[in-house]
Amino acid sequence: MPDELLARLRRFHDHTFPGVQDRFQDLVRDGQHPTILFIGCSDSRLVPYLLTGTGPGELFIVRNVGAFVPPYDIRAQHGQLAGFHGTTAAIEYAVLNLKVAHIIVCGHSHCGGVRALYEGVGPDAPNLNAWLDLGREAVLPVQLTDEALRRTEQRAVVLQLERLMDYPMVRRQVDAGQLALHGWHYVIEDGEVHVFDVHQGAFVPASSSEHSGTGPFLPFAGDDISPVDAW
Ligand SMILES: [Zn+2]
Repeated sequence: MPDELLARLRRFHDHTFPGVQDRFQDLVRDGQHPTILFIGCSDSRLVPYLLTGTGPGELFIVRNVGAFVPPYDIRAQHGQLAGFHGTTAAIEYAVLNLKVAHIIVCGHSHCGGVRALYEGVGPDAPNLNAWLDLGREAVLPVQLTDEALRRTEQRAVVLQLERLMDYPMVRRQVDAGQLALHGWHYVIEDGEVHVFDVHQGAFVPASSSEHSGTGPFLPFAGDDISPVDAW
């Protein structure tokens, strides 16, 4: 049986990499300095680099089912590990070490994780079931429809933004005007991100929005190269 994955690895090394080699070598020499922490759902149809026109070195990415943000665990302050908080660790690293200027929480349409908040998961997935607790506050007391699913997906994004503000280092940077939070809902079939406007309390299509998030809005510090084209 042909090993398709192996073929793809070789194709990358032999054909794709030479075109972006300089970029990667710069990133190794100078280190990574991404300005954006992207917290996105694991859904395969959500492609952060395509959405944002970014490439190597520009996004620090953490993805999980639902694009959820766990609560900041106060016990961590006292050196006691209360669990393996991968998403929480990534947030701390991005804000404290990388000093990112933007955090994007990106949910999306047709989200299986959000749908599971209504339909439940089987007993053979206890970790998934526990993880979904992070979205339960977004659930509406209605029958699940396409409209209810979309509203819940958007409410879940706002819920995660609120939880992010409970992280001391996030709140500190936001208050200092050094960090902007962005709540996004990507509609897969339209190719359009709807951004949360905190003043309107609503999601606005990027095509008619005046900004990309909840501010303050620092200029995007990415450089001018278009890695998507380079690929
Ligand atoms: Zn999803």
